[in-house]
Amino acid sequence: MPSAKSSSGRMPVLFIGHGSPMNIIQDNSYTRSLSALAATLPRPSSILVVSAHWLTQGTWVTDAAKPRQIYDFYGFPDELYAVRYEPAGAPDEARRLSAEATKARVSLDEGQWGLDHAAWAVLCHMFPAADVPVWEMSLDTTLPAAQHVEIARSLAGLRERGVLIIGSGNIVHNLRLIDFRDDAAPFPWAVEADEWIRARIASRDLAALAAYDSAGTSVRKAVPTNDHYLPMLYSLGLADKGELLTFTHEGIQNGSISMRCFRIG
Ligand code: ZN
Repeated sequence: MPSAKSSSGRMPVLFIGHGSPMNIIQDNSYTRSLSALAATLPRPSSILVVSAHWLTQGTWVTDAAKPRQIYDFYGFPDELYAVRYEPAGAPDEARRLSAEATKARVSLDEGQWGLDHAAWAVLCHMFPAADVPVWEMSLDTTLPAAQHVEIARSLAGLRERGVLIIGSGNIVHNLRLIDFRDDAAPFPWAVEADEWIRARIASRDLAALAAYDSAGTSVRKAVPTNDHYLPMLYSLGLADKGELLTFTHEGIQNGSISMRCFRIG
């Protein structure tokens, strides 16, 4: 893995669509795109995952030296529950952020949470050796979307310290309408919503993205709850407009889940 930092000296920031837990054990174009992406990154000092699966009041970060692996999915094949991904945590970085955060109060979880599958289902493909420390940040469900962007902006300094920040969710994510067949055709509304969101990610139109609930029927269907959508706002909010944005994967799995991923910087 290359050890040089990016040309600007800042760690790139990522948004990763994680999709179905089945991707943990699959070899497909999406999982291969994750390995390929990781191979192009500078080596991070630690990885902070903003998780679609840790929903809280207030904003929290994990501070355990050895975070526990959380199998937060049910009814999947036994093979998935046998996958071990047990990197170290980054308690010093968590404490520093909690002490520094001014705009947004960030609290330490005192070992209550761990690494849910928004983190490890992705990282097992990107950093299979689990040799980079990993910590997580929760989503404060009491805040409007625009305030999540403000929290993201307050985290930008972490990039200068070599922290790889990954927003992990899905920009189109409707589990009620999911079709678990591997060859499920994308629903037309899912394709339309993915395109609407893609265009606004490309133009960094954070105001429009934060106001997704007024974007029409397709986007409302794509974002029935915003837990998987908000991590994308963090990834965009962490970057400057002038930084290069690249979509590293796109495609719809299971009819209703966009696997779109991007990298900035
Ligand atoms: Zn998820």
